[in-house]
Amino acid sequence: MLAPRSSLQGPHVRGKSFTTRAISRLLLAISSFYTCGSRLTKDNPGHHLETMKIESVTLREIQMPLVHFFETSFGRIYSRRILLVSVEADGVRGWGECVAGEDPYYSPEWTETAWPTIKHYLAPLLMQGELDAGRDCAARFARVRGHRMSKAALENAVWDAEARQKQIPLWKLLGGTRREIACGVSIGIQDSPEQLLGKIETELAAGYRRIKIKVKPGWDLNVLETIRARWADIVLSVDANSAYTLDEIEHLRKFDAFNLLMIEQPLWNDEIYLHSRLQKSLRTAICLDESILNARDADFALEIGACKIINVKVGRVGGFSEAKKVHDVTARHKIPVWCGGMLESGIGRAHNIALSTLENFRLPGDVSASKRYWKEDIIDPEVEVRADGMIAISDAPGTGYHVREDLVKKFTVREETFRAGKA
Ligand SMILES: [Mg+2]
Repeated sequence: MLAPRSSLQGPHVRGKSFTTRAISRLLLAISSFYTCGSRLTKDNPGHHLETMKIESVTLREIQMPLVHFFETSFGRIYSRRILLVSVEADGVRGWGECVAGEDPYYSPEWTETAWPTIKHYLAPLLMQGELDAGRDCAARFARVRGHRMSKAALENAVWDAEARQKQIPLWKLLGGTRREIACGVSIGIQDSPEQLLGKIETELAAGYRRIKIKVKPGWDLNVLETIRARWADIVLSVDANSAYTLDEIEHLRKFDAFNLLMIEQPLWNDEIYLHSRLQKSLRTAICLDESILNARDADFALEIGACKIINVKVGRVGGFSEAKKVHDVTARHKIPVWCGGMLESGIGRAHNIALSTLENFRLPGDVSASKRYWKEDIIDPEVEVRADGMIAISDAPGTGYHVREDLVKKFTVREETFRAGKA
């Protein structure tokens, strides 16, 4: 299946009548304008004449121990099983990370659904013909329902390859404008409030601009009281990961006393409307995470007042293309977004950084330093957060972070390569 626009490109154009050539060029100019903007055309004139042929897809499972355990209302984990994908296209390698968890708790997808979905469906679709760009992946994968994290892993790898092929930074290719991004941290449920205070103290000293704690019934108001008694003014938010129901509305109203930036996903993971009922009863802004799977969901949630903030996770919405659309919808509604984290290795982390340069990422994201999670990250340099809580954006081509293939190899527990024509 050839991408339709490829028939208008390169040598195919020559030999056609003047009118056909003029129409072809006009169509190319329009498509280039809408997808890349004039800035990219200036940086890399003629880039739109290229297409990409994905020659192979390699799927790897790596296992990395976390520096500290991480506990949410789903449970506690000590290490991560992460699926990495790399794509080879015209001599360039692009990397992506599947953010599906070890278990189907955050979403129905998990490590063991992602592998066969990529192997049997998505990788063959990706290699079926040339692509104009990473943005074409979503349409290529549309036949497969759901499996957004698997789709995102591949789509983001293609964007990565495209940026490297064009020798431009990924953040510019995505349409970003920010030269530095603000960082917050997400702190899991601890064994005791004292332990949590110790963690918060460490993160504040490291410069992070927003502290988010995970909450669940029994670990919420009591903990917030302790935190606020010690730090009355820090920017603080909570994430419930769907731990409450609408029957607990009186309990949830008590969160208003703590001057929180937001309460994230208090109710059911697949529910938007009931959040609008809760939001009417709360002063605290609701932020939706799990409920928002695409730009239509975001538009609906904002239309009915289900939230005042949205957390964008590129894996949850199926890749950079849809994440950009969610971003654009929220900007239209004048609602800020921020970039959520999924305990990513450096590859996913670098992609989150690139996404966070889009203009409406106005709140600090969960994009923190590599060393908070890993003794050794698989990228060079590792992600570092400055003392003022910001990450500087690199101008290097691609993500600006080099993948340490030696370490990837060391952590790999299974690997399989699929090639065009043989998948
Ligand atoms: Mg969340």
